[in-house]
Amino acid sequence: MTTTSTNPTQAGSMTDLEGLDLRHLLHPHQRNQRNFRRVIVRGQGSTVWDSTGREFIDAIGGGIWVAQVGHGRAELAEAARKQASEVAHFTGFFEYGNDKSIRLAAKLAELAPERINRVFFASGGSEGVDTAIKLARLYHHHRGQSERNWIIARHFGYHGTSYGSGTATGIPDMQFAVGPNLPHVEKVMPPYAYHTEFYGGQDPTDFLIAELEQTIERLGAENIAAMIGEPILGGGGVIPPPADYWPRVRQLLRDNGILLIADEVITAYGRTGHWFDSEPRGMDADIIVTAKGITSGYVPLGAVLMSDEIGDVVSGGDSGSFFHGYTYSGHPLACAVALANLDLIAEEGLLKRSLTIGDWLQTGMAPLADNPAVGEVRVVGATAGIELVANPETHEGVSLELALDVCDELYNTHGVITRNYGPTIVLSPPLVLEEQEADRVTSAICDVIGRLDVGEGTIKPA
Ligand code: PLP
Repeated sequence: MTTTSTNPTQAGSMTDLEGLDLRHLLHPHQRNQRNFRRVIVRGQGSTVWDSTGREFIDAIGGGIWVAQVGHGRAELAEAARKQASEVAHFTGFFEYGNDKSIRLAAKLAELAPERINRVFFASGGSEGVDTAIKLARLYHHHRGQSERNWIIARHFGYHGTSYGSGTATGIPDMQFAVGPNLPHVEKVMPPYAYHTEFYGGQDPTDFLIAELEQTIERLGAENIAAMIGEPILGGGGVIPPPADYWPRVRQLLRDNGILLIADEVITAYGRTGHWFDSEPRGMDADIIVTAKGITSGYVPLGAVLMSDEIGDVVSGGDSGSFFHGYTYSGHPLACAVALANLDLIAEEGLLKRSLTIGDWLQTGMAPLADNPAVGEVRVVGATAGIELVANPETHEGVSLELALDVCDELYNTHGVITRNYGPTIVLSPPLVLEEQEADRVTSAICDVIGRLDVGEGTIKPA
């Protein structure tokens, strides 16, 4: 029952909308202590507007690492309109299908690394990760190794919030009070070279390989289905691994018959300058989970790409049924938008452009190098993490409140939308960001971080 006479179906004033929101909406990752709302109603390119008409630069891609081709693209609206007027949805279950999901699967196989040629569609990243975990277990089962069901994941990794993906996620708060979580998930440390203290003075990769070897030994290689990891940790704070990390992990897993799942929900489709970031990093993944950028976030869609071998085994002649699927698997409208979106990424050279954006961000944030509150600035293509530290010697991060204050100041004073992941401020703008927009973002960041008083835990007035 509504408690206001406002017609809830009409966009209203900010006050009306905030009131309705606070009364009726439970937000994903809601921060209960914040009793205000930011209501975005329109977007064009890298700019969005709230319901008061205030303009912002979207430096975090729809707030959540999407919007590759920018907001308000008529081409994607038209693809959706056309498909809705033909057939919006018909199931992909059993022998049914539709032209768009078939064409999209073939397109993804063309773009993906050599041995990846099969695709399963989901509605987003969490479903995709759950699917990947099931695929890995099923694959081993059909090959007579059903005891291989452990999954190795990493602290600081983010894989989603369903039970499978949420358990694989390396953020303990996500598993709090909702257990039992998925059994047989083990966490190892991630490569986080800035935090030398994690590795006791050793080379991070040497340390991590030894840890992985010990973990495999302890669990028993014959009990492990797969390891899952993001090529670069995204939600952990944009953390790229040392160059030798993935090739050495890959080799160790291969030697032990363990599959590798690359979670490319953030990185695929151009974010770091490649269709798939796992390829140049030497992951040679058996399964690649993607979502977000596949439609630039215009409609929900996830795609789980797998090797021919896994596809053959799980759908092979004597394996019975592949009993897994979602109502919206292969949704034709979502797939039509994805096809149009991938065309735009290719036609507009957005893979290359994401590297150019990275150069602009790097140059614009160069002044931060001398700021003791900045532990590290990490730029990988068109994404960046600025890790704020209370103590540069120990690498201890600033409080979550202070990192949030930085984002609030960027929003309120400069109209720049960013996000903090722990003590790290994260950028992931549309791949159509213009140079002067990048300047506006980096000048704002330099200004606000320049006014940080970490000792006092405050930001000095402008
Ligand atoms: N994997 C990674 C790397 C992600 O960053 C996310 C979401 O941010 C997910 C999985 C979960 O995707 P979704 O929120 O679409 O379920």
